Amino acid sequence: MSTFLGMPAGRGNLTGAPFPEAAREALGDAQLRRNLAKATTTIRAKRATVVGELPDWAALRAAGAAIKDDVLANLDEYLVRFEEALTARGTHVHWARDADEANRIVTDLVTATGTREVIKVKSMATAEIGLNEALARAGVHAVETDLAELIVQLGHDRPSHILVPAIHRGRAEIREIFRREMPDVDPDLTADPRALAEAAREHLRRKFLTADVAISGANFGIAETGSLVVVESEGNGRMCLTLPRTLISVVGIEKMLPTWRDLEVFLQLLPRSSTGERMNPYTSVWTGPTEGQTSHVVLVDNGRTAVLADPDGRAALRCIRCSACLNSCPVYERTGGHAYGSTYPGPIGAVLSPQLTGVARNPTLPFASSLCGVCYDVCPVAIDIPSMLVHLRGKVVEAGRTTPESTAMRALAWVMSDARRWRRFARLGKFGRTASRHVPLPGWSTARDVPQPPRQTFRDWWEAR
Ligand code: SF4
Repeated sequence: MSTFLGMPAGRGNLTGAPFPEAAREALGDAQLRRNLAKATTTIRAKRATVVGELPDWAALRAAGAAIKDDVLANLDEYLVRFEEALTARGTHVHWARDADEANRIVTDLVTATGTREVIKVKSMATAEIGLNEALARAGVHAVETDLAELIVQLGHDRPSHILVPAIHRGRAEIREIFRREMPDVDPDLTADPRALAEAAREHLRRKFLTADVAISGANFGIAETGSLVVVESEGNGRMCLTLPRTLISVVGIEKMLPTWRDLEVFLQLLPRSSTGERMNPYTSVWTGPTEGQTSHVVLVDNGRTAVLADPDGRAALRCIRCSACLNSCPVYERTGGHAYGSTYPGPIGAVLSPQLTGVARNPTLPFASSLCGVCYDVCPVAIDIPSMLVHLRGKVVEAGRTTPESTAMRALAWVMSDARRWRRFARLGKFGRTASRHVPLPGWSTARDVPQPPRQTFRDWWEAR
């Protein structure tokens, strides 16, 4: 199956309510803001410490960006090389143009095994395409094995952070979820983190030992060797990848790295930027199936080639999903991830989701930023998110989305294009500003003073000279 440049994303979890509406609701939740402020402040401090330890951080960052840019410039070649290497080692490769096609491929593979339950290691690509929902429609239950993903799943909730999907939940809430949803959990379970982790471990151990099919994502795919890499903190990835007889990996096409050696750069950039650790606890690398196992890789486009086609937007595909931009963003810290309505929240979500879906389906996200620039400063692959946001705002305006501001700007452009018209308007403007000091402008003058108009305009002064 071929993919073609500029294909739009099919269905999936990339859109939601308009950001201003969703953000207003989130801002009313004081507990959410407290949880977010505490968690992001802690991760930010850890990241700053471990990044500050490396004298060559700037060089590493530049190397990461350069490797990813090379991948994007030669993606067709790297993907074919990756497919050849995978096939040579006995893995079956599938190509999916969009979310619907990827879901169909995975669902067919799973149902062909006859199983009714699969285990999953955290994968943003499967969340993006809505795989759990598609499997459920086919009568297959997907069990999330990442602790935070499990909390989200058992709470019938949605992830709100790339790295810590249950960041919006407190310990007491998690205890209640476990007591309600885990059939054989200790009824006296406490909210102590160790007790909660132990309850999850026991629950998942039974799943690991009985599952026939596992579904994974991948942080990286190495074109040279056909290896897949999963970076995680709990060891659940290793259990998923090795125990079940069938392994299906769903991988976005931008996850390529050219060679094995390139991994060295990213295994330094990623843990320091995400969890604030020098090295992540578990790095699983597999090249072909383990003995007795059948393995499949589904390579997903779902709008990525459309992003690639835009020279001003394609750098968003460098993203390694570290979440440093979320943890630093003043907007994310106050609204949380649900307000973005997409699997990808925060600054990267504000530029990636509208590009994957087309700005018409996500017109408010490029405006979900103060353009302060901190996301660019902390990004380990130097994605200039603020410039991209401005670029996407331009696209929204060009696409004809009418806002009070765009209507006012169009009217102003008409007035300023004619000298006589402008002169009359300037006189009226003086009257208008005087009047507006006495008649409030809703939403504008509530937080600002309307400036006092000058007694004489420059034009009047010039003519009276
Ligand atoms: S945009 Fe940069 S900082 Fe944000 S998640 Fe991606 S790699 Fe990390």
